Amino acid sequence: MTAIDDLPPLREVIRRHGLAARRSLGQNFLLDLNLTARIARSAGPLDGITVVEVGPGPGGLTRALLAAGARRVIAIERDQRCLAALAEIAARDPARLAIVAGDALKVDPAPYLKGAPARIVANLPYNVATALLVTWLSVEPWPPWYDSMILMFQREVAERIVASPGTKSYGRLSVLAGWRTHARMLFDVAPTAFVPPPKVTSSLVRLEPRTPFPCDRRALERVSQAAFGQRRKMLRQSLRTLGVDTQHLIAASGLDPAARAEEIPVEGYAALARALEEMV
Ligand code: SAM
Repeated sequence: MTAIDDLPPLREVIRRHGLAARRSLGQNFLLDLNLTARIARSAGPLDGITVVEVGPGPGGLTRALLAAGARRVIAIERDQRCLAALAEIAARDPARLAIVAGDALKVDPAPYLKGAPARIVANLPYNVATALLVTWLSVEPWPPWYDSMILMFQREVAERIVASPGTKSYGRLSVLAGWRTHARMLFDVAPTAFVPPPKVTSSLVRLEPRTPFPCDRRALERVSQAAFGQRRKMLRQSLRTLGVDTQHLIAASGLDPAARAEEIPVEGYAALARALEEMV
């Protein structure tokens, strides 16, 4: 038994600190210890790893990450009401839990890491989940400060992240995620596992940084935005919004001008981005 194991049940913590869930903060809490332990296990061995957790809330997953042996957990929480509850966990293990009060979209975790190997593990607030993921996928320089991300999303968003070309879910987010990471779905979580239950099923996703096909990130975003902005049109039509000689751009990229956005693999978008850079 560790100092973490005999903390009071999460329901009691929520009641005592008045943590009624707020939709505006994307609050859907996980109170099932088996599930939080399973998420922590999905993050792989945590010895020697500093975990950055966004949105610890009342601290269910935070406890699981500490119990799983994380060297440290840096927990970034925007809701001031949760801070006292989190402080109770930190009091049991002050050297391993640091609570950062603030908006994860604005906090740079790097200074807290001091160069230690880091991993992002979070049951994300769904209202800012995509924005947070895009921020982490856009980190410069690459490889980033984390070795992997284990993140809970709404299933529909998770499907877009891991989508392959030729599927309905394949889009700009799949291109960015596929360019910089190997992303895969781990498991689904039913709405009933959360308090309060969200309207949709959730999915845990693992993203591991990879060596990207060489190209500039902004150019990649420009070409994928243009192509998927008119996803049913052929490239020779949809890429016109870029304001360059489309015929030359597509030829230089080695792509078929009659292909549509969802047929182009990530490598093809990288080729388009390189060709665009040379033309502007
Ligand atoms: N980790 C807890 C759990 O699994 O039970 C809570 C997860 S809940 C889905 C999302 C958490 O993110 C909430 O505690 C919420 O207050 C917090 N949050 C929302 N927006 C945030 C932001 N911009 N930065 C940091 N935390 C945020």
